[in-house]
Amino acid sequence: MIADAPLSLLAGFAALGGAAIGSFIGTVLVRLPVERSILTGRSACDSCAVPIAARDLVPLLSWLALRGRCRACSAPIGVWQPGCELAGAVIGAMAVLLAPLGLAVPAMIFGWQLLLLAVIDARHLWLPRALVALLAASGAVWLGWQCWQTGTLAPLWAGLAGGALGFAMLWSVARGYKMLRGRDGMGGGDPPMLAAIGIWVGPMVVIGTVIGASLIGMAAALLALLARRPVAADTALPLGSLMAVAAWAIFLVAGHG
Ligand SMILES: [Zn+2]
Repeated sequence: MIADAPLSLLAGFAALGGAAIGSFIGTVLVRLPVERSILTGRSACDSCAVPIAARDLVPLLSWLALRGRCRACSAPIGVWQPGCELAGAVIGAMAVLLAPLGLAVPAMIFGWQLLLLAVIDARHLWLPRALVALLAASGAVWLGWQCWQTGTLAPLWAGLAGGALGFAMLWSVARGYKMLRGRDGMGGGDPPMLAAIGIWVGPMVVIGTVIGASLIGMAAALLALLARRPVAADTALPLGSLMAVAAWAIFLVAGHG
């Protein structure tokens, strides 16, 4: 137990940091689609526009204390903001507790970026190019770090192979669908997103990511059918969100390869 104490302490700190990052992700989620500045300007209630006081900006705790309602007008705040904060905290803690040795920090950096892309895609069916590019760039830094650590170029080749395979797989599926059906069946941001994921995880995990995302998508469609929600062949699923969840889960337990 004593030996476990530092790890649980680290996980606690990672969860706190993750909640704060999740709070920022919630802000980006609200502001990016309406092109408001992300770094300046105070947060305000979506309903009454009253600025939110500092004491009401504590991740998760404020939402719980206010029971999910604005202090000024009692309008529901919604679950996206606390959801992002909770997910950010869980990613931080799980990266410390579950990631293979030496992968905790990359798992966090990878996970928080995927969380941001996943929530934007889930809410808007949109994968902003700049954020996908950031995921790819941070993946390249991670590859460089691994090359330096191992003294070989093998991680670089794996990352390039993963990126190329990820893009080619989804691009060819999208082309095939368009040739058969005469319309787009996939968001244009999906192939670049899987390419960016591939840089991080390598070709084997890219394949696992596609399989995992398909399984989660099918499970979600099945649940929707059971709940008697309408599901059609062209009901849009946020493929980017599904890939984000699958890729991070596999990275967390298996690392990259
Ligand atoms: Zn309000």
